[in-house]
Amino acid sequence: MAGRAAEARGGAGGEPLGSLDALVKALRVLPGVGPRAAQRMALHLLQHDRDGARALAGALERAVEAVHHCERCNTFTEGAVCALCRSGRRDAALLCVVETPADLMMVENTQAYSGLYYVLMGRLSPLEGIGPREIRLDRLLKRALDGDVREVILATNFTHEGEATAHYVGELLAARGLKVSRLARGVPVGGELEYVDSGTLAQALRERRPIAA
Ligand SMILES: [Zn+2]
Repeated sequence: MAGRAAEARGGAGGEPLGSLDALVKALRVLPGVGPRAAQRMALHLLQHDRDGARALAGALERAVEAVHHCERCNTFTEGAVCALCRSGRRDAALLCVVETPADLMMVENTQAYSGLYYVLMGRLSPLEGIGPREIRLDRLLKRALDGDVREVILATNFTHEGEATAHYVGELLAARGLKVSRLARGVPVGGELEYVDSGTLAQALRERRPIAA
């Protein structure tokens, strides 16, 4: 371990390795990567996988250049407007608000939703200094009020912050006359009541719907 650390600090002759230091420092932009992990990654790439390192560098360069936010839904896309927003087969009267592109994909995977999306790329978090301005709620407002949208479905997470975001956004949109709904929580598909936590079960009970007679 000590040998490795010394290796990263300088070459065999003790000369400073500026490029290696810079690489270790650069790798620390990745979430959850501390100094030791960054050093391990850098040494691994240089010692065992230089082709992989080149591919990574190229992919990063290209993605950073090419990937932007969709003008309509704010998700990542390479054009001005993403494929979903361009599609003529989606119901433009429905707008589903999610926190991240990953959440959008989760909703898409259900194949139960035919409307369009707006991706917040975050959520309100006063403790972290993330307010309505930081997540650009003005853009959502503009999108939701474009004339086609009849209902906004708030599908932010059921975390403290996700709930607070849904509440805030919901009030904002409802005040402008839009129909706003929140994703219902409930018992998971295939879930047995015995194993569902009481909070979820209580919510499922409150949000019960009539069934066809
Ligand atoms: Zn889009």
